[in-house]
Amino acid sequence: MEGFAEVSELEAWDGVPDRAFVRRGGALIAWRSAAGSDGTAPLRIVGAHTDSPGLRIKPNPDGARAGWRQLGVEIYGGVLLNSWLDRDLGVAGRLVDAAGDQVLVDVREPIARVPQLAIHLDRDVNERGLVLDRQAHLTPVWATDFDVPFAEWLATQAADRVADGIEPEWWELCLYDVQPAAVLGADRSLLASGRLDNQVSCWAATAALARAEPAAHTAMVALFDHEEVGSASTSGASGPFLEAVIARRFGAAGTPPDERYRALAASSCVSADNAHAVHPNYPERHDPDHAPLVNRGPVIKVNANQRYATSAETAALFHRACTDAGVPVQTFVSRNNVPCGSTIGPLTATRLGIATVDVGVPQLSMHSARELCGAADTAWLAEALRAYLA
Ligand SMILES: [Zn+2]
Repeated sequence: MEGFAEVSELEAWDGVPDRAFVRRGGALIAWRSAAGSDGTAPLRIVGAHTDSPGLRIKPNPDGARAGWRQLGVEIYGGVLLNSWLDRDLGVAGRLVDAAGDQVLVDVREPIARVPQLAIHLDRDVNERGLVLDRQAHLTPVWATDFDVPFAEWLATQAADRVADGIEPEWWELCLYDVQPAAVLGADRSLLASGRLDNQVSCWAATAALARAEPAAHTAMVALFDHEEVGSASTSGASGPFLEAVIARRFGAAGTPPDERYRALAASSCVSADNAHAVHPNYPERHDPDHAPLVNRGPVIKVNANQRYATSAETAALFHRACTDAGVPVQTFVSRNNVPCGSTIGPLTATRLGIATVDVGVPQLSMHSARELCGAADTAWLAEALRAYLA
């Protein structure tokens, strides 16, 4: 992040710069300190998640069958399985060697594919519906005449792409669709891409923070990992990462406990994660009075059963930020017979006791390998978050 200094969890935090960030695995927390007495200033936090459902390469992935080389994969999160068929897949992620040293690698080329069975061999698929066995039918092919083990191939790829190379022993690797994002529609009003959930919110949050001026509060962005699998990890929203960062900042400023709780009581959090726009082919899946439309602005998500953390007060807080930014805003409530998903909002609110509102850009095809949202909504979310952090 340009203009932000990285600080390490392993080092002492006295004298930490005003604009800084800290990483833990796939999570990142960044902040812009309040002007003046930072130790007692309340926080304004934007939370989001970095992970997306998809296919991950297993530790012993090498397989061969019927003249094909195949890669063993593990399904991560709530994948729309059919969306991964017949896509040209690249691979990216983290490599770790025997000594524990690590590098990030992105092989920006199509190297694998999960081929769908031909309709001639599956005659009633369109009537019966596609049924995919999670172990048998999602295994990608990645070569025919090639007997180099995956780990060895990976080492050559790393040597080409990373300065010092690495002999990977372990990895966390995702397959991904190599087709680039596209602005779509006759009026160019839509954005099609993999991982819109939740890279849109991560982008909007960091763009807003990068432009945040010093204010009476500390502006903070917390991007967590593992939301799609329940958030229970060292780098997930149920873990201690955000709490530890806030406590260490208070500690470095010498803020006594009573002042800390006063600052937290005056703090707030916007939890940003994409919402479901009304699908024109399935309008009956939404409550007609709380049905978000694409390119009509970010959505405030409300759920009385606390699947979302929004309260009337925090809804009003985000609504004010949208008004200040000149951004339209919508409201989502699920149908009583279609339960909604949840987000990191209730988790951080429960851990820290900070008043939270759940918001997000409306999209279609959530958890597909290629999702769809309104292009205007993405910029509007960034504007609204900038106004909130300002
Ligand atoms: Zn999400």
